[in-house]
Amino acid sequence: MHPTIAELTAAGAVVTDGAWGTQLQQLGLQPGDCPDAWNLTHPDHVAQVARSYVEAGSQVILTNTFGANRFVLARHALAGQVAEMNRSGVAISRQAAGDRAKVFASVGPSGVMLMLGKVTAAEVAAAFAEQAQAMADAGADGIVVETMSDPAEAKLAVAAACRTGLPVVACMVFDSGAQRDRTMMGTTPEQAAGQLTAAGADCIGANCGQGIAGFVAICRRLHAATDRPIWIKPNAGLPTVVDGQTVYTQTPEQFAAYVPELVAVGAAFVGGCCGTSPEFIRAVAARMR
Ligand SMILES: [Zn+2]
Repeated sequence: MHPTIAELTAAGAVVTDGAWGTQLQQLGLQPGDCPDAWNLTHPDHVAQVARSYVEAGSQVILTNTFGANRFVLARHALAGQVAEMNRSGVAISRQAAGDRAKVFASVGPSGVMLMLGKVTAAEVAAAFAEQAQAMADAGADGIVVETMSDPAEAKLAVAAACRTGLPVVACMVFDSGAQRDRTMMGTTPEQAAGQLTAAGADCIGANCGQGIAGFVAICRRLHAATDRPIWIKPNAGLPTVVDGQTVYTQTPEQFAAYVPELVAVGAAFVGGCCGTSPEFIRAVAARMR
């Protein structure tokens, strides 16, 4: 086990953080804005989100770098700022964490679909390598590859992240199929755990896509399929649209009520994805204790 992961998990399950996108929206990020650009244009707002999670009890916080790869940034004409945006994202979380939390840098999907054949696997691998190297240079404690649907893309991201020497968490979204237990590409938890473990990931996980109730079975299956610690970040239930706004209605207490069950079926890291906030993390931390 990577020493950083061993150190974090030595005393039991670890509390991570909650959503960043929905928190930044509350601070004024508009639909269509590039969230990652806020590391350079609104660093104080990004720092506020990071600090709010440390204060809520997160032992690991992520970074505002989910879409900071050259393909996603190109849509905002910012492809030339990959290194700068990732470095500042890590620096902002690092400053907020101090010695109270570890900083695991977030790597989201490339934004291009390998199966369409418009970009090559080598080009996607190079984009992930560029992002991961900037994160490592800026002093991240780890890298979280998250919200992945395509195992081929996830493996490219994991391989690029592993080359930095940092511990790597690899998470996919299971929200498809009659049982909501497959990725959009039809990948099962067992297949994901097998492939991501073989790719070198230090932790295997699931995030986003559905509410926490559905993560219990997924967590159990991931845990049975790999010897790596399991990382879980569910959404705050399923969103409903009210007056054109996406709203998550689950309460922090309803969410946190599932934490003991998740830990019992193998979760080593628990936090939240879309719709969760520092209040959710406070409730999760209280349940962990
Ligand atoms: Zn999410």
